[in-house]
Amino acid sequence: MKTQSSEYYISEINRLKEEKNAIILAHYYQTSDIQDIADFVGDSLALSQKAASNSADIILFAGVKFMAETAKILAPRKKVLLPDMNAGCSLADSCKAVDFEKFIKANPGRTVVSYVNTTAEIKALSDIICTSSNAVQIVESLPPDEKIIFAPDRNLGNYVLNKTGRDIVIWNGTCHVHEEFSLEAIIRLKKENPAAKIIVHPECELPVRMVSDFIGSTSALLNFTRKDNRKCYIVATEVGIIHQMKKENPEKTYIPAPPRDSTCGCSECSFMKLITIEKIFNCLTKENPEIIIDKNILLKAQKPIRRMMEISEKLGL
Ligand code: SF4
Repeated sequence: MKTQSSEYYISEINRLKEEKNAIILAHYYQTSDIQDIADFVGDSLALSQKAASNSADIILFAGVKFMAETAKILAPRKKVLLPDMNAGCSLADSCKAVDFEKFIKANPGRTVVSYVNTTAEIKALSDIICTSSNAVQIVESLPPDEKIIFAPDRNLGNYVLNKTGRDIVIWNGTCHVHEEFSLEAIIRLKKENPAAKIIVHPECELPVRMVSDFIGSTSALLNFTRKDNRKCYIVATEVGIIHQMKKENPEKTYIPAPPRDSTCGCSECSFMKLITIEKIFNCLTKENPEIIIDKNILLKAQKPIRRMMEISEKLGL
């Protein structure tokens, strides 16, 4: 197919959305052009809530596969499309169902709390799902003596353990973006910009979390820059969120925290960036690739996600 201008794709995408009663849900880590054509932009929790409560026939997910799977699990009658099936996640890949089953058996009697960044199979093996927005509250909602398995992110797991003091066994998985931030570079940036606040995602390693002024999920970081009165921030999460930060408060300065080994000076999720405007147009035109999940797995995965959503709703998250 011949490549067209981005204006052409954007106008065709808008036409197709209307014609097919489709909506585009985009994650904060998508490129700014995609965030701008989406019907809704958010983090994993907000996008799950949106997937479960809308009247569209088609959900096109501008994000990675586990997110589109979560949308399909919550809205099984809708057609859920993902423009590139290679848009995976290093964190979800670090936790395979066959190994996780063994891990659960090796740690019997524990409630399995899994991060939303997991495959549908892992969700089906879990008792309750969480996102980085609600992980602490989800664990705190369990009885104090309940023993817990937390998977798959070891940094978020450690953060939750330190915050709650609960008995938690943690799966040893990581995200290739959040694990890679350079502490030395962040400290250097802070010296160069002494008025800047360091804001950090809980998937980052402990030394990076320790030098931070604020730790929170992607949406919590956005909210922090919205309400805080400082003018400059060193942002240690995927660089895509800076688009929304700039849109909301263009007068402030946002410095992306650099990874240990990079010349570009910022941290991008290579999986997230596989989605392009052209792929969205092709996907919406052909209604393919489509997310298909085995019915048994889908039904089993629904329960722990709904449990998370009920608790989040009760807590007003
Ligand atoms: S940023 Fe990390 S956790 Fe998020 S999709 Fe990319 S690899 Fe997965």
